[in-house]
Amino acid sequence: MRLLLVTPERQLLDTDIEEVYAPGVLGQFGVLPEHVNFLTALGTGELRYRTKGADHYVAVSGGVLEVLDDLVTVLADSAESAEEIDVARARQAEERLRHALARTPSDAPETPDLAAALGRAANRQAVGARAGRAATAAH
Ligand code: ATP
Repeated sequence: MRLLLVTPERQLLDTDIEEVYAPGVLGQFGVLPEHVNFLTALGTGELRYRTKGADHYVAVSGGVLEVLDDLVTVLADSAESAEEIDVARARQAEERLRHALARTPSDAPETPDLAAALGRAANRQAVGARAGRAATAAH
Protein backbone atom coordinates (compact mmCIF):
# COMPACT_ATOMS: atom_id res chain seq x y z
CA MET A 1 0.00 0.00 0.00
CA ARG A 2 1.01 3.57 -0.47
CA LEU A 3 0.41 6.31 2.12
CA LEU A 4 0.19 9.91 0.99
CA LEU A 5 -0.15 12.48 3.79
CA VAL A 6 -0.51 16.17 3.01
CA THR A 7 -1.57 19.29 4.89
CA PRO A 8 -2.48 22.67 3.40
CA GLU A 9 1.15 23.64 4.00
CA ARG A 10 3.18 20.67 2.82
CA GLN A 11 3.50 17.03 1.90
CA LEU A 12 4.64 15.00 4.88
CA LEU A 13 4.64 11.47 3.48
CA ASP A 14 4.56 9.53 0.25
CA THR A 15 5.73 6.08 1.20
CA ASP A 16 5.05 2.36 0.90
CA ILE A 17 3.48 0.98 4.05
CA GLU A 18 2.30 -2.31 5.49
CA GLU A 19 -0.53 -0.82 7.60
CA VAL A 20 -1.82 2.43 9.04
CA TYR A 21 -3.94 3.27 12.11
CA ALA A 22 -5.67 6.63 12.23
CA PRO A 23 -7.92 8.65 14.56
CA GLY A 24 -11.33 8.74 12.90
CA VAL A 25 -13.99 11.00 14.38
CA LEU A 26 -15.74 7.81 15.51
CA GLY A 27 -12.58 6.26 16.96
CA GLN A 28 -9.23 4.78 16.02
CA PHE A 29 -9.27 2.41 13.02
CA GLY A 30 -6.78 0.40 11.01
CA VAL A 31 -6.21 -0.03 7.28
CA LEU A 32 -4.50 -3.17 6.03
CA PRO A 33 -3.94 -4.23 2.40
CA GLU A 34 -7.17 -5.27 0.62
CA HIS A 35 -9.20 -2.91 2.76
CA VAL A 36 -12.54 -1.87 1.32
CA ASN A 37 -12.56 1.60 -0.26
CA PHE A 38 -13.90 4.30 2.04
CA LEU A 39 -13.66 7.89 3.16
CA THR A 40 -13.80 9.15 6.74
CA ALA A 41 -13.31 12.36 8.70
CA LEU A 42 -10.36 12.54 11.10
CA GLY A 43 -10.33 13.83 14.66
CA THR A 44 -7.31 14.83 16.72
CA GLY A 45 -5.03 11.95 17.59
CA GLU A 46 -2.18 9.68 16.68
CA LEU A 47 -1.64 8.25 13.22
CA ARG A 48 0.66 5.24 13.24
CA TYR A 49 2.03 3.58 10.14
CA ARG A 50 4.37 0.66 9.62
CA THR A 51 6.97 0.66 6.90
CA LYS A 52 9.74 -1.94 6.49
CA GLY A 53 8.69 -3.46 9.81
CA ALA A 54 9.09 -0.26 11.87
CA ASP A 55 6.33 1.88 13.35
CA HIS A 56 6.23 5.64 12.90
CA TYR A 57 3.96 8.17 14.61
CA VAL A 58 2.34 11.40 13.41
CA ALA A 59 0.13 13.83 15.34
CA VAL A 60 -2.83 14.69 13.13
CA SER A 61 -5.82 16.93 13.60
CA GLY A 62 -8.86 17.20 11.37
CA GLY A 63 -9.24 16.44 7.69
CA VAL A 64 -10.12 13.25 5.84
CA LEU A 65 -8.65 9.85 5.08
CA GLU A 66 -9.52 8.03 1.87
CA VAL A 67 -8.78 4.43 0.96
CA LEU A 68 -8.86 3.90 -2.80
CA ASP A 69 -7.55 0.50 -3.83
CA ASP A 70 -3.88 0.45 -2.89
CA LEU A 71 -3.64 4.15 -2.01
CA VAL A 72 -4.37 5.69 1.40
CA THR A 73 -4.63 9.47 1.14
CA VAL A 74 -4.71 11.65 4.25
CA LEU A 75 -5.59 15.31 3.81
CA ALA A 76 -5.00 16.62 7.33
CA ASP A 77 -5.71 20.09 8.68
CA SER A 78 -2.46 19.79 10.63
CA ALA A 79 0.14 17.05 10.98
CA GLU A 80 3.58 16.72 12.53
CA SER A 81 5.78 13.64 12.77
CA ALA A 82 6.78 12.63 16.31
CA GLU A 83 10.40 13.56 15.55
CA GLU A 84 9.62 17.14 14.53
CA ILE A 85 7.26 17.96 17.40
CA ASP A 86 8.55 20.56 19.83
CA VAL A 87 7.18 19.08 23.06
CA ALA A 88 8.10 22.09 25.19
CA ARG A 89 6.19 24.37 22.82
CA ALA A 90 3.16 22.09 23.02
CA ARG A 91 3.36 22.07 26.82
CA GLN A 92 3.47 25.87 26.90
CA ALA A 93 0.56 26.05 24.46
CA GLU A 94 -1.45 23.69 26.66
CA GLU A 95 -0.79 25.81 29.75
CA ARG A 96 -1.70 29.01 27.94
CA LEU A 97 -4.89 27.47 26.57
CA ARG A 98 -5.94 26.07 29.95
CA HIS A 99 -5.65 29.55 31.44
CA ALA A 100 -7.53 31.10 28.54
CA LEU A 101 -10.33 28.55 28.83
CA ALA A 102 -10.57 29.07 32.59
CA ARG A 103 -11.32 32.74 32.11
CA THR A 104 -13.62 32.32 29.09
CA PRO A 105 -17.34 31.63 29.57
CA SER A 106 -18.29 28.20 28.23
CA ASP A 107 -20.80 29.75 25.82
CA ALA A 108 -18.33 32.31 24.41
CA PRO A 109 -17.79 32.09 20.64
CA GLU A 110 -14.05 31.42 21.02
CA THR A 111 -14.46 28.51 23.46
CA PRO A 112 -14.70 25.72 20.83
CA ASP A 113 -11.53 26.95 19.09
CA LEU A 114 -9.65 27.15 22.40
CA ALA A 115 -10.80 23.65 23.33
CA ALA A 116 -9.74 22.28 19.94
CA ALA A 117 -6.32 23.96 20.24
CA LEU A 118 -5.97 22.46 23.71
CA GLY A 119 -6.67 19.03 22.24
CA ARG A 120 -3.98 19.57 19.59
CA ALA A 121 -1.44 20.67 22.21
CA ALA A 122 -2.14 17.63 24.40
CA ASN A 123 -1.96 15.31 21.41
CA ARG A 124 1.39 16.79 20.29
CA GLN A 125 2.84 16.05 23.71
CA ALA A 126 1.61 12.46 23.62
CA VAL A 127 2.87 11.82 20.08
CA GLY A 128 6.09 13.78 20.63
CA ALA A 129 6.89 11.43 23.51
CA ARG A 130 7.05 8.63 20.92
CA ALA A 131 10.00 10.21 19.13
CA GLY A 132 13.05 8.00 19.05
CA ARG A 133 11.07 5.10 20.40
CA ALA A 134 9.90 3.68 17.09
CA ALA A 135 9.65 -0.01 17.83
CA THR A 136 10.50 -2.66 15.28
CA ALA A 137 7.52 -4.90 14.70
CA ALA A 138 7.65 -8.34 16.25
CA HIS A 139 7.72 -11.17 13.76
P1 ATP B 1 1.47 27.27 19.35
O1 ATP B 1 0.48 28.01 20.20
O2 ATP B 1 2.37 26.35 20.10
O3 ATP B 1 2.19 28.17 18.36
P2 ATP B 1 -0.63 26.72 17.52
O4 ATP B 1 -1.89 26.62 18.30
O5 ATP B 1 -0.32 27.97 16.78
O6 ATP B 1 0.60 26.30 18.44
P3 ATP B 1 -1.60 25.25 15.36
O7 ATP B 1 -2.40 26.45 15.02
O8 ATP B 1 -2.32 24.00 15.73
O9 ATP B 1 -0.60 25.53 16.54
O10 ATP B 1 -0.55 24.95 14.21
C1 ATP B 1 0.20 25.98 13.59
C2 ATP B 1 1.41 25.38 12.85
O11 ATP B 1 2.45 25.08 13.79
C3 ATP B 1 1.14 24.08 12.14
O12 ATP B 1 1.91 24.07 10.96
C4 ATP B 1 1.61 23.02 13.10
O13 ATP B 1 2.03 21.88 12.38
C5 ATP B 1 2.78 23.70 13.78
N1 ATP B 1 2.95 23.33 15.20
C6 ATP B 1 2.16 23.69 16.22
N2 ATP B 1 2.63 23.26 17.40
C7 ATP B 1 3.77 22.58 17.12
C8 ATP B 1 4.73 21.88 17.93
N3 ATP B 1 4.61 21.80 19.25
N4 ATP B 1 5.78 21.31 17.31
C9 ATP B 1 5.93 21.39 15.96
N5 ATP B 1 5.05 22.02 15.15
C10 ATP B 1 3.98 22.62 15.71
